[in-house]
Amino acid sequence: MGIYLDNAATTRVCPEAAQAALEVMTEAFGNPSSGYAFGAQAAERLSADRAAVADALGCLPEELVFTSCGTEGDNWAIRGAVEYGRRKGKHIITTAIEHSAVLEPLQGYDVTYLRPDRSGHIDIAGLEAALRPDTVLVSMMLVNNELGTILPVREAAQAIRRAGSPALLHTDAVQGFLKVPFTPEELGADLLTISGHKVRAPKGIGALYIRKGIKLKPLLRGGGQESGLRPGTEPTAQVAALAAACRVWAEHREDYTNRMSDTKNYFLELLEAAIPDAVVVSRGDAPHICAVSLPGYPSEMLVRELSDRGICVSSGSACHRGKPSHVFAATGRPKRELMGTLRVSFCPDSTREEAKALTEALTEIKNTRIAAG
Ligand code: PLP
Repeated sequence: MGIYLDNAATTRVCPEAAQAALEVMTEAFGNPSSGYAFGAQAAERLSADRAAVADALGCLPEELVFTSCGTEGDNWAIRGAVEYGRRKGKHIITTAIEHSAVLEPLQGYDVTYLRPDRSGHIDIAGLEAALRPDTVLVSMMLVNNELGTILPVREAAQAIRRAGSPALLHTDAVQGFLKVPFTPEELGADLLTISGHKVRAPKGIGALYIRKGIKLKPLLRGGGQESGLRPGTEPTAQVAALAAACRVWAEHREDYTNRMSDTKNYFLELLEAAIPDAVVVSRGDAPHICAVSLPGYPSEMLVRELSDRGICVSSGSACHRGKPSHVFAATGRPKRELMGTLRVSFCPDSTREEAKALTEALTEIKNTRIAAG
């Protein structure tokens, strides 16, 4: 099927996760709420799987509520936090480079957007200046999905505390989970979103960490599952797969991190040597993501040409109709550079050979196509 270097978009499910899902779908398939043996078996399995995910995240099992995806977690965190703080105010602080799963649900609220510098980093002084007595939520992602930059979430928690602000801190850790070291407690996060399909579990499973003591209203109404917080029969097969993916990743964490950053650094080194006017937009602080640009070569064309050569990379999550993505645009780089930006993202199985093939393909495209503008 070719070379897949778009692992920030989604990952191939690892065999252990697929096996765990199969087991639960065909053997431990009961409804955890049922009062007979099949139900008890499913409930027991769900509890063990929740503990495994909590262990990988570094929180208590009862602080985790399973969701359908990262988007649901982000939506819930925002709506829940606003409702939680409704007597104290309505002001929210976020960054201009959040995923649309955060930016869209914030529409219509009183929001201050922190802007990144050219490298995609956020200065905590901006947050300190933006905090107001009526700020009820700060939502700052941990790792940006297009640039791979790490945002100062720990420092945000400290700033909120220093200011004596009642604001809750939410972090979208969808791209950070298992890729960079943290626990929710160490970050000082009250709410934290993860998603399974970025860490070799299937699509359709995520979780929201809700710090013990915070009472969030559910998004959905129905049965009493997930302690009444997220009604609906639990997706036990997806949870089992997520737990298996977490166990494997946690066990090989250091090796996986080293492998991803080695492949990424090798790619950047090759690219800079092969195409001297290529621009490294972001080397990425996280091990798996970087962004590069061939100024004058529109990224949509590059993605198409690479795809014709069997190589999959991304032009950014919202880069279409002649506009750079809101993340790349927020860095304020020159338009010619922004329009040619590609995101390349790795998984632990990505190889140096794949990185080399990508560089060679980009060199060939550059040598055979004339730059625009
Ligand atoms: N947040 C970030 C940073 C992401 O990268 C993504 C997925 O691309 C999401 C949220 C949404 O996650 P999901 O696809 O599980 O809804």
